[in-house]
Amino acid sequence: MGAKADRQNSSLFPEFRWERLKEPVLISACFLGIPCRWHGRRPKKRDKLIERLKKKYVLVPVCPEQLGGMSTPRTGEYLNGTGAQVLDEGLKIIAPETGEDVTCFHIAGANYTLELAQIVGIRRAYLKSGSPSCDREGVTGELLSRAGIQVVRVP
Ligand code: SF4
Repeated sequence: MGAKADRQNSSLFPEFRWERLKEPVLISACFLGIPCRWHGRRPKKRDKLIERLKKKYVLVPVCPEQLGGMSTPRTGEYLNGTGAQVLDEGLKIIAPETGEDVTCFHIAGANYTLELAQIVGIRRAYLKSGSPSCDREGVTGELLSRAGIQVVRVP
């Protein structure tokens, strides 16, 4: 069975015909002004992006780092490599201020995000570039791509 068939069967709405209604897409929750970023402050809401996407899609906000169990505020990490290296080669993500290994939170967040995407029947995700989780080459972006979900990188 292919990835598309898997997705349809595990979706809440396996027989759903997206041509007739707006399709759901994932979007990084911080684009909606949700204060889920590492610093805990409310980010600027991306009104133009939201308006553009809302014409075509139902937006499903998600923050993989919070889903993975990270607190807010938290330390701001960088990915010294790619999500693929984290998933396949054991590359660690280390919090710069504390030296804590936070890799497991990023991997858990990616897995929960994928699970959620499959439940809803997501085929596309608009995720924040530059984030160790959300970037298309980040941990979540990589996992979603591997599952056949198109990840659109938004600056
Ligand atoms: Fe935004 Fe994604 Fe970072 Fe969460 S993990 S704060 S949604 S960029």
